[in-house]
Amino acid sequence: METKIKEALLDIVGPENFSDKLIDRVAYSYDASESSSRPDCAIWGTSTDQVSRILTLANRERIPVVPRGAGTGLSGLAVPLRGGIVLDLKRMNKILSISVPDRLGVVQPGVVYADFQAALAPHSFFFPPDPASGAICTLGGNVGTNAGGLRAAKYGTTKDYVLGLEVVLADGEVMHTGGKTMKSSSGYDITRLMVGSEGTLGVVTEITLKISPMPKEVATAMATFDRLEDAGKAVTLIMHSGVIPSVLELIDANTVAMFRKYSDLKLPSVEAMILVETDGHTKQDVNHQLDQVIQVFQKCNTGEIQRAKSKAEAERLWLARKSIGGMVGMVTPNRSSEDVTVPMSRIVDFLRGLDKISKKYDLLILNFGHAGDGNLHPNIMYDGSDPDQVVRLKRVELELHELACDLGGTLTGEHGIGISKAAYMHLEHDKVSLRVMRSLKKALDPNNILNPGKMALEA
Ligand SMILES: Cc1cc2nc3c(=O)[nH]c(=O)nc-3n(C[C@H](O)[C@H](O)[C@H](O)COP(=O)(O)OP(=O)(O)OC[C@H]3O[C@@H](n4cnc5c(N)ncnc54)[C@H](O)[C@@H]3O)c2cc1C
Repeated sequence: METKIKEALLDIVGPENFSDKLIDRVAYSYDASESSSRPDCAIWGTSTDQVSRILTLANRERIPVVPRGAGTGLSGLAVPLRGGIVLDLKRMNKILSISVPDRLGVVQPGVVYADFQAALAPHSFFFPPDPASGAICTLGGNVGTNAGGLRAAKYGTTKDYVLGLEVVLADGEVMHTGGKTMKSSSGYDITRLMVGSEGTLGVVTEITLKISPMPKEVATAMATFDRLEDAGKAVTLIMHSGVIPSVLELIDANTVAMFRKYSDLKLPSVEAMILVETDGHTKQDVNHQLDQVIQVFQKCNTGEIQRAKSKAEAERLWLARKSIGGMVGMVTPNRSSEDVTVPMSRIVDFLRGLDKISKKYDLLILNFGHAGDGNLHPNIMYDGSDPDQVVRLKRVELELHELACDLGGTLTGEHGIGISKAAYMHLEHDKVSLRVMRSLKKALDPNNILNPGKMALEA
């Protein structure tokens, strides 16, 4: 980095918030994906004014700027592909206000998701999106990716809860979008455009989030199915039952087989398992909802049904689902974790199609995910030290995304496009919609300094 630029940045943020040491440049070259690329420096922004001055300078000097929260993104979202500045927002971590009467909270982007939940709990309120990385990821990152989670089928994703934003644009100007009302039909919905934009359109410096009363009760059950088709039918019929479960997780035969091989969990050898949870404000309500779901299971040739009678039993039922992330590392040295989403009625078609792809390229694929909203997380297992397996992996990734899009699905339900899915954007979005996306990027960031090289915005 040129000395004059370094001095100008130091002048804006001070030496305590700037580093071009190798150790920091290496640390900021990664996120939680397999991609990496080294920035020229890392900067910790501590105020909107600072962020504005950094972007004004970067825009003038055409230096790439990559906003970053906790770096837990799974698609290379915060990896500084073109070098430049990684702008870490974690020091902007104040919860500015919580207003139960207005049903909202106002936060800085670096607030850790779990800290916000902890602050809402005494009010018996919560922020419903529930990324599994919640203990470390930031609310700014959740906005950047439109994060979801297990409960998205019932509660939606981050975009359903962002009421307003303060955003610093590429030229350093500060924009305020949305507001503090529960609804608004005023002008273009720029707030929603910003959510999920992966740091390519602006740097979010303040977020106004809708919050909800916390359900006090849950009921949990698990069911097995000898045939995948019966599990798929159950998912479809549940949607007709009048109940939207807060959790509806599908675990496939390969994942069950992994548990049988590598753990002492006593699972039967079946083609599918479904874990279901209902939530509400009284025991009677959650049990009534669970009764409806179990009746559906019984109509679908279910094998075993286990219904938790205590918190400990519920935790035991959750164990398999919660252990998957840790256990996959025992199967192969590497895995490619995908995030496609298909219409719920096409889940079985997708899984059967994927099985064919897996056999065609002789790579094991474990499937689990949020059947309640069609968001599946196929994990392609491979050994990265074997070039032949890497070539086959690329073929599987392409065909998997083609399959999802052919079934009317999307490339990503919650993890975002970033680097790893950029090459597939044309499979989902038609030419006109890609052109509109690129025009929006050009209008807001004409010099392409914000997180360049992501989301196929440059083609
Ligand atoms: C173990 C594990 C489990 C996970 N489970 C889930 C899950 O259940 N659901 C889910 O949705 N995701 C999940 N993720 C992915 C990840 O945690 C989410 O995408 C999360 O929202 C990223 O937050 P972050 O703070 O780490 O953001 P980062 O990874 O740092 O950044 C993500 C994107 O947001 C942009 N960004 C960050 N801050 C700002 C800002 N202030 N202004 C503008 N852009 C910004 C970045 O430029 C980048 O493009 C998981 C990841 C891991 C490692």
